[in-house]
Amino acid sequence: MKLVIASGKGGVGKSMLASSLAILFAKSKKIAAVDCDVDAPNLAIWLNEIKNSGKKTPIVTSAKPVIDYKKCNGCGLCVEKCRFGAIKMINGKPRTRTSSVRGRPQLNPFLCEGCGVCEIVCPQGAIKLKPVQNGEIIIKNTKYGFPLIIGNLLPGETGSGKIITELKKQADKSGCKLQILDSSPGTGCPVIAALQDSNFAILITEPTPSAFSDLKRVLKVINHFNLPYEIVINKWDINSGIADKIEKWALRHGSGQTGKRILGKISYDKKIFKAVSNLKPIVETNLKAKTEIKRIFKKLETILWQDQ
Ligand code: SF4
Ligand code: SF4
Repeated sequence: MKLVIASGKGGVGKSMLASSLAILFAKSKKIAAVDCDVDAPNLAIWLNEIKNSGKKTPIVTSAKPVIDYKKCNGCGLCVEKCRFGAIKMINGKPRTRTSSVRGRPQLNPFLCEGCGVCEIVCPQGAIKLKPVQNGEIIIKNTKYGFPLIIGNLLPGETGSGKIITELKKQADKSGCKLQILDSSPGTGCPVIAALQDSNFAILITEPTPSAFSDLKRVLKVINHFNLPYEIVINKWDINSGIADKIEKWALRHGSGQTGKRILGKISYDKKIFKAVSNLKPIVETNLKAKTEIKRIFKKLETILWQDQ
């Protein structure tokens, strides 16, 4: 069972909810928490596991071109065809109809997307794509008894989606019955990779126009995968008017498992930020949010295992 916490907009409470649900589910199930926000993984902070360095494994899921200058004749075709502007010609000009000046192509690895076009077009066979380390997987055994599997994309690297696929494989190897996936914000490649092959999604939002708009966007991706989902409104009381609008909108988008598509609401509380800065998971506090999250957990437990 793979449960994804997604949102569209960043900073609306994905990691807070994912960490809390992981701790609560771990009391009765063998779980793995997976931090799929490979650009900025932060689940370790919410679980107070930052001092635990864990086991790091380098990961190679992308490739970059290597130019063999003995074969290159400086024709410039690779410069011309690279749509990302990742190769420039030094000591010469890119190939044009009138220019016969030949130079030396040079790769900017930070602009390269590893698409392989330059390798295909090079008439001299001077370019070969070679695998490069683009990230790492960190596995921490948490004090709650479950593994925390973190993906980390190296600066300037690409291939976030492939790293997430590897994270899920690692979680499968742990033999857990439930994977709790803390997704990246947005609707791009890492979000798609987290949602793919998953069984259920929780869409968390907050009552602001931008979060509501992003919720609608991420829902398009959820619907593409035909994934069952429920919605949680975090900080609902900062704007109860928009929170009501979200509830009404959710109701119009199908009955959902709860009959309303709203799994629960979490109140705004400044003390949540204090708890995070003190590295205290929310479900270990006495805040109102703890009770609200527990209520969400109970409903979710019933939904996920209702047929078993
Ligand atoms: S296409 Fe090949 S031969 Fe032409 S400049 Fe690029 S590497 Fe050199
Ligand atoms: S692999 Fe693609 S992005 Fe990278 S340099 Fe070649 S053509 Fe450009």
